[in-house]
Order: sequence, then structure tokens, then C-alpha cells
Amino acid sequence: MSFTEYAEKSLREKGYKLTKPRRQVLEAIEKAEGPMSPYDIGKMMEGKGRHLDQVTIYRVINLLCSLNLVHKVFSRGGYVRCDLQEEEGCHRFLVCRGCGHLQEYRDEALCRQESQVAQKLGFQAEHHVTESSGLCKDCQG
Ligand SMILES: [Zn+2]
Ligand SMILES: [Zn+2]
Ligand SMILES: [Zn+2]
Repeated sequence: MSFTEYAEKSLREKGYKLTKPRRQVLEAIEKAEGPMSPYDIGKMMEGKGRHLDQVTIYRVINLLCSLNLVHKVFSRGGYVRCDLQEEEGCHRFLVCRGCGHLQEYRDEALCRQESQVAQKLGFQAEHHVTESSGLCKDCQG
């Protein structure tokens, strides 16, 4: 199943309509080579003679992020499609500063540990975001 197909199914299952802007943003993110900002997405649409305003794009992206379909890559200032379809929990990234490669992963033990740290500080954590930057296997040495 392609990313867009999976995301469409997921939206419907959670009671969200598949509006035209949602479909267009999904398609843009599926085709993107790397992280895209809402501005990049808007530009990409305009290249195809479509027009979506930034507020709409932001809203769609926020919804997709809340459903774990799209993630923000903080160190790159953009958004990418989720590669871990159907996997619950917090998804994290290893970001290569050499080639820009992104590796998505999840780690339940890490989640438990982060929740414990927060708990010690009297905080109830619901979601964790960690990003590691460095060099991938191909870019080392
Ligand atoms: Zn993910
Ligand atoms: Zn690399
Ligand atoms: Zn977590």
C-alpha cells in the first residue's frame, strides 16, 4: 500500500473526510525527496497549477502529525511521511548530516525511560520526540 493509500484509509477509519486539500498535501509529501516545509508544499502545488494557502496547509499537516502519518524533522525544519505504518507509539529519527538520510525508528524501552524521567519531575509525558544527528553508515570514515 502506498503512503497516500495508507493515510487515506487511516483518515477514514478515524472519522476524517478525505478533503481535496488533505489529498493534495498527502500526495505532495509522498512524492517529496526529503523534509518539506508548508512553504515548500505550497510551491510544489503551484508548480502543478494548484493553489492551497499556507493556513490550510498548516492545518492539514497538524492533523496528519497528530495521527502519526507525518512527522516533523526538527533539525531539517520540515515534515516527512511516516515510514513505520501501523506502528503505535513515538516515532523518532536519526538524521545524517552528511547525505541527509533519515532513518525512522521506535523504541519502547526508550519511551518507558523517558516517561520515568518525566515522572520523577512530576510530569505526565504523553509523547516523546528525540532526534539524533550525526553520520549514517555510508558517511562514516
Ligand atoms: Zn512514523
Ligand atoms: Zn549519510
Ligand atoms: Zn514515547
